[in-house]
Amino acid sequence: MQATNAKLRQGRGVIEHYCEYLPVSDSTPIISLGEGDTPLLFCPQLSKRVGHGCEVFVKNEGVNPTGSFKDRGMTVAVSKALERGATALICASTGNTSASAAAYAARAGISCAVVLPAGKIASGKLLQAFAYGAKIVAIDGNFDDALRIVRELGERGDFAIVNSINPDRIAGQKTAAFEIVDALGNAPDFHLLPVGNAGNITAYWAGYRAYNAHQRSTKLPVMLGFQAAGAAPIFYNRIVETPETIASAIRIGNPASWKQARAAIAESHGAIDIVSDEEILAAQKWLAQHEGILAEPASAAAIAGLFKCRNSNEAAYSFQKIPDGSGIVCTITGHGLKDPDIISQRMKELEPVAATVTDVRRVIGL
Ligand SMILES: *Cc1c(COP(=O)(O)O)cnc(C)c1O
Repeated sequence: MQATNAKLRQGRGVIEHYCEYLPVSDSTPIISLGEGDTPLLFCPQLSKRVGHGCEVFVKNEGVNPTGSFKDRGMTVAVSKALERGATALICASTGNTSASAAAYAARAGISCAVVLPAGKIASGKLLQAFAYGAKIVAIDGNFDDALRIVRELGERGDFAIVNSINPDRIAGQKTAAFEIVDALGNAPDFHLLPVGNAGNITAYWAGYRAYNAHQRSTKLPVMLGFQAAGAAPIFYNRIVETPETIASAIRIGNPASWKQARAAIAESHGAIDIVSDEEILAAQKWLAQHEGILAEPASAAAIAGLFKCRNSNEAAYSFQKIPDGSGIVCTITGHGLKDPDIISQRMKELEPVAATVTDVRRVIGL
């Protein structure tokens, strides 16, 4: 009976689907855009490339309402903020948090302020914040500066903070782990994802553990997190003052959930590793051209990480050690359309030809 009810609640947002696992009650007003219930896609080419009889799946969070996993946490954070009587939200953002906060604030009929590092936001994400009507402030500083300011404004009580330092965000993001276990019938052997502020790795691990405690799975995955080489505070175990990477969503030098990420890695016998911008871009292109999935660069870090584990003896986690036939899940955290500038470089190569069948056929070359 419970399973039937859960099925009926699918597609109606993560709060309705997983209310018994979330900090909500009958008096919580549910602000949802139908987030979650995203595809867990088996990837035949990726599985082949990894080899060892491994099965690789991608959890495609890019198809959430605002194009990233942030919506899972935002529905809970905004619903709870409204329940507590908030009239304004605030967040610091590398882009996707602001897109999501702005959309859910619009849905809730409350205002939203976003504090962004000037010139550092992917254009699609900034476009979303404008379109949903957020109050946007660009600062001369990085994400870590923005979060410091937001924390201070939030402490004064004028705004509800919807960054991942808000536990309601983490609670909502756990639902991605629930969906994976529901789809596979158990937890995967390995879970790979990009790490920025480390809220998501914290949430996945908490989600896998909660489901395991409720006997919904018989095992827990090994958690493997990937940071960009120029923004890898957890890997190097020190704050990075000026983080640099093309993957703007993980351009973070002082992660808010640093300790929790370390715990997730230690408890799951996993690892944190780094990938270069070149590896990230190559993985983004490979996934689009071999599996038809366009991920934003930060998301491609997980795929780059998978390739590194598979190919390199220097990897923090070597796939030589994993048993044949392991089940692997990689989270694609956000949609590639959010960051068009990276790909549009390649479009400049397009030269028009004469409008004749002969010319078109010559250019196609097939
Ligand atoms: C926010 C975000 C990340 C990083 O997640 P954290 O919870 O900050 O570690 C990775 N990829 C995308 C697309 C994001 O929006």
